[in-house]
Amino acid sequence: MANLGNPKNTIEILKKYDFIFQKKFGQNFLIDTHVLDKITKAADITKDDFILEIGPGIGTLTQYLCENAREVVAVEIDRMLLPILEDTLSQYDNVSVLNADILKVDILQLVKERNGGRPIKVVANLPYYITTPIIMDLFEKHIPITNITVMVQKEVADRMQASPGSKDYGALSLAVQYYAQPYIAANVPPNCFMPRPNVGSAVIRLTLHKEKPVHVKDEELLFKIIRASFNQRRKTLVNGINNSPELSFSKEDVVEALAALNLPENIRGEALSLDQFATLANYLKGCL
Ligand code: SAM
Repeated sequence: MANLGNPKNTIEILKKYDFIFQKKFGQNFLIDTHVLDKITKAADITKDDFILEIGPGIGTLTQYLCENAREVVAVEIDRMLLPILEDTLSQYDNVSVLNADILKVDILQLVKERNGGRPIKVVANLPYYITTPIIMDLFEKHIPITNITVMVQKEVADRMQASPGSKDYGALSLAVQYYAQPYIAANVPPNCFMPRPNVGSAVIRLTLHKEKPVHVKDEELLFKIIRASFNQRRKTLVNGINNSPELSFSKEDVVEALAALNLPENIRGEALSLDQFATLANYLKGCL
């Protein structure tokens, strides 16, 4: 089968199967071999690796993964793509396609069954409408993963990588950086896809921490505090936490905690580092 990274080959396959793009599934297929090379390289794939691909589409990136990895499992929601994948991946015996919604797949079980519970790598050109739930699910379900290398909207990649004080810094930056080290490997313009998305894209690699960068007594509390601090961007952190329906700390509790951290009472969430949020959560845990 010809390389689908070449637009001519993609067009030919789409015509052969009369494929109709489904906007609701975020279908923007890659048609640029340089970008495909970059994703494969950034993911640091070896012949020992087991790869989970989310949304193989017509199998463009999947072909690259099959060439480089030991085994590939690709999860695709759109059943109209199944006969196409059968065709475009026919030369590989190290790939299986599951027709399912990735958010409903028991990935932990899959990793146990198919890779003896050893760490996997996740590679995908993600459907943008569910980028955050997919990534947070992979983190929160504690799936054994070495790294996640994904194409996302440029704006989302920037938020994942942002530091305190930057306009992009928020709950997503802190959640991602609690679990992983982000690295933007490439910026990708709309003309590398068919059809073209109306936003810029970026390839980001998230290398999971072997040990968490901060120590928290209560992870759930940490994330409730982070969410509350960014819910009302223009409000102070004290008001954000005090107004949160998920939390029951008084203003005095929060003011006291901030004083213990040597932070001013009127500070906003965007000024605090992950380390400071962790210290704050540990302090407030004592007020429960
Ligand atoms: N990997 C292909 C490529 O790079 O050309 C296609 C990427 S396209 C941006 C996203 C793919 O994810 C589509 O094939 C779409 O049908 C699939 N998809 C969308 N929602 C999904 C879900 N919930 N579970 C699994 N696949 C999904």
